[in-house]
Amino acid sequence: MVLIYAERSDDELYRQAVAFARALAQAGDVRAVAIGDADGYSPDGCGTALANLVRERAPDIVVAPGTDRGNEALAHVAAELDLPMAANCTAVTPGDPITLTRVRWGGSLLEEARLHGSPAIITVAPHAVAADAVEIEVESIDAAPGMVRVSETVQALSAGVSLTDADVVVSGGRGVGSAEGFAVIEELAELLHAAVGCSRAVTSAGWRPHTDQVGQTGTKVSPSLYIACGISGATQHMAGCKGAKKLLAINPDREASIFASADYAVIGDLHEVVPAISAEIRRSRSG
Ligand SMILES: Cc1cc2nc3c(=O)[nH]c(=O)nc-3n(C[C@H](O)[C@H](O)[C@H](O)COP(=O)(O)OP(=O)(O)OC[C@H]3O[C@@H](n4cnc5c(N)ncnc54)[C@H](O)[C@@H]3O)c2cc1C
Repeated sequence: MVLIYAERSDDELYRQAVAFARALAQAGDVRAVAIGDADGYSPDGCGTALANLVRERAPDIVVAPGTDRGNEALAHVAAELDLPMAANCTAVTPGDPITLTRVRWGGSLLEEARLHGSPAIITVAPHAVAADAVEIEVESIDAAPGMVRVSETVQALSAGVSLTDADVVVSGGRGVGSAEGFAVIEELAELLHAAVGCSRAVTSAGWRPHTDQVGQTGTKVSPSLYIACGISGATQHMAGCKGAKKLLAINPDREASIFASADYAVIGDLHEVVPAISAEIRRSRSG
């Protein structure tokens, strides 16, 4: 039997997990269970409730969508049952042990692996399979008492264009130098109706909020143009902007790895180059 954790924070990803589980079960049984969170989402409370159900029903495989909550809850299940968990799977072949393919390093690596132990605990990589239109019956159970609970949800402040929808993204890295240094990035972004992004070095330094971070542990963007200013081009950053159609990099270090992925390169100081681009845009528009 395949048991699905019906985590529906993203309905499309949930339906993809259903399709994945149904293909995996072949003619077998697929059951879905949702965890009620009337008092607020609790990751360990969900994990314990699911782990208890797994002990009781003994499924062969436990599947969840590859959402933040799907990954988090199944990690708790695996820890409670002292089993391994494989996140972000794109293909699974039943057997003993199960063999699987999973996405790693923000999409830059596909790993072939064997998963020992029973049940196999896996989450499905987003968009690895097409969503299933079939609606399966979902049993609802209560979360167990948890030590961690979401007490408040705060909407991200979004001024202007959102990173995921932007056609142009102007992104700054450590080379910007300070929070105040982003004034030139913001100015260019405004002129281009672009969103402002940044690297993790910038969010770690507290210069920009995490919602602006592009990369493996940030937002994945796919604009027509990505302008990387003072960003070295670490794989974890590139994992977030490799969907861009064109990449312009501005960096004084001609050896910086970002230039290997760039369509356009300006070897120079962003504090000179970026204001010069803005000035040129203004001049051409006023003319
Ligand atoms: C598990 C994990 C997850 C991670 N996730 C992410 C992620 O989601 N996103 C992310 O970005 N990183 C991520 N990182 C961090 C990543 O490895 C890099 O450390 C980070 O991307 C570096 O940021 P940076 O390019 O701004 O800084 P640096 O690597 O320090 O590069 C700064 C660049 O600025 C240039 N520069 C300096 N002065 C100027 C100037 N005046 N004008 C123009 N250029 C200048 C320098 O030549 C240099 O190339 C992750 C790391 C790990 C281990």
